[in-house]
Amino acid sequence: MIELRTPAEIDAMRPAGRFVAEVLATLRDETKVGTNLLHLDRRAHDMIRAAGAESCYIDYHPSFGASPFGKVLCTSINDAVLHGLPHDYALRDGDLVTLDFAASVDGWVADSAVSFVVGTARDEDLALIDTTQRALAAAIETATVGKKIGDISAAIAAVAHAEGLSINTDFGGHGVGRTMHGDPHVANDGKAGRGYPLRAGLVVALEPWFLHTTDELVTDPDGWTLRSADGSRGSHSEHTVAITPDGPIVLTDRSFLGVD
Ligand code: MG
Repeated sequence: MIELRTPAEIDAMRPAGRFVAEVLATLRDETKVGTNLLHLDRRAHDMIRAAGAESCYIDYHPSFGASPFGKVLCTSINDAVLHGLPHDYALRDGDLVTLDFAASVDGWVADSAVSFVVGTARDEDLALIDTTQRALAAAIETATVGKKIGDISAAIAAVAHAEGLSINTDFGGHGVGRTMHGDPHVANDGKAGRGYPLRAGLVVALEPWFLHTTDELVTDPDGWTLRSADGSRGSHSEHTVAITPDGPIVLTDRSFLGVD
């Protein structure tokens, strides 16, 4: 069921968006060569506790998960792109890092993800990150009253296809509200002009993610971490966006913190 939020409810979601933005900006700033993924998870946990927020991940146990997630942050490194379970690993020079974080504040959820490289970056990794960022920007620009879900999907796909990337539609965007995952599903590929009409009050997480040379994923023995089937690296850009009569509001915008 698709739920629409009143302007007052969208305002009430702003603290969650701001908190998620602050956590990702802080973690991104502090993540260096040598940083351990378990440290990043603990840091996020501390920020959750200090803010009186709640993790959306720690008890998360969907049908595809082997057991509850048990951590508050997803850390997907290099050929891992989604649902990376933090483990005892110190980042190495040139690692491509994706941090995905969702939390609720005052009972409202926000969800966001960012990819970046620590240390010396490969040009192809920076290009892939740029592509997911541009796809997210295109998705947000399309998230306006009068368009349809398929217009967002098509906008994302156009950016990927221009770079010759293939797209996996198993995991994509979703409604966000009192819980992390609601309707509608927002696939990262689709037909313009099709699907649910975008109405004022719809709040969705938009999340293009792409791999260099495949659209196939394999699951790690940890039961969570999703990696590319061919070992190529991935990037993921996600924001929680409210559709309003005045245009999209990016609730998890980090730009006020000086971080893109
Ligand atoms: Mg997310």
